[in-house]
Amino acid sequence: MSLAETIPHKLQASIDNIIDNVVPSPWLSEAEKADYIVKIKALLKQKNAVVIAHYYVEDELQALAEETGGHVSDSLDMANFGAQHSANTLVICGVRFMGETSKILSPEKTIIMPTLDAECSLDLGCPIDEFSQFCDQHPDREVVVYANTSVEVKARADWIVTSSNAIQIVSHLMDEGKKIIWGPDRHLGQYIKNKTNADMIMWQGNCVVHDEFKLYELEELMKKHPQAEVLVHPESPEAVIAKADFVGSTKQIIAAGKKSNAPTLIIATDHGLFYKMKQAVPDKLLIPAPTGGKSATCKSCAHCPWMAMNTLVNLYEALRDGTNTIEVDEETRKKALLPLNRMIDFSREQGILTAGDA
Ligand code: SF4
Repeated sequence: MSLAETIPHKLQASIDNIIDNVVPSPWLSEAEKADYIVKIKALLKQKNAVVIAHYYVEDELQALAEETGGHVSDSLDMANFGAQHSANTLVICGVRFMGETSKILSPEKTIIMPTLDAECSLDLGCPIDEFSQFCDQHPDREVVVYANTSVEVKARADWIVTSSNAIQIVSHLMDEGKKIIWGPDRHLGQYIKNKTNADMIMWQGNCVVHDEFKLYELEELMKKHPQAEVLVHPESPEAVIAKADFVGSTKQIIAAGKKSNAPTLIIATDHGLFYKMKQAVPDKLLIPAPTGGKSATCKSCAHCPWMAMNTLVNLYEALRDGTNTIEVDEETRKKALLPLNRMIDFSREQGILTAGDA
């Protein structure tokens, strides 16, 4: 087995352990939630701060971002929004690499996260030392990494991509005769490889949420809803992607839902996206793609355990106390900025609407 296979495999146990130790969010009554929201709104004004939330965090945090002039989006759009906003402090509701990406683009700003324990299995499964060693073994290849990586892995890359621009960037590299190292998501990598026929060798990481979508149960669900269209995020397994009417990033899934004439949409991505999806297509029936097997009582638990660690309570406490700030080594940040800007410039030149989606 190569490094690209053994390291993610070895890390699986520690990733499972980290998930097992995730502390459930405290239950709050509606009155308690309202109280926290009032206090957070006051602090946002007092500290010239803005809330920027990922599509996968809890509905109440997405609503808070919207109500207070913040933003709800994918990771790179979050970072872009923060960089262009006048606030001194960006409150990033998401997982750690999202806070880091915001810091890469906005080094002068204070980046606060509700919790610094919110990780990502793609980031955890791609440690810099082992990934760098893998890259060193293939010096003739361009290193292309997904946005869901640490700042150190980004700094090691030639290109950063997102799920909305990866096909264009990999095709561009192919046209230049380049061979590629891809990391860390193996399903997204395989999807891009199938689409472009590029010469890619892949790190074998995966997203613990999308990896769980089940083919057999999806087929059964499709039989029950023959008029439904199936929208799938490309971090899902290849067999699930093969059933899709549309494959794309979070933002692209919302756009595809709006264009669709189908009365029902089966969606294979984190449940958190349903908050914005319901706003976009209020008249459609939205069904989460199954992650549970035949005898499971929960048919789909597609929700990121780390995204769920962001709460009104820890957001309030971090903002009140100025804690949970993201700090990035300046030299590493500058190195990571190069492939990030390369991607942003390429996306603008290509007329890809946003700078990126994760
Ligand atoms: S949903 Fe998957 S890719 Fe997104 S943060 Fe969670 S583990 Fe990472």
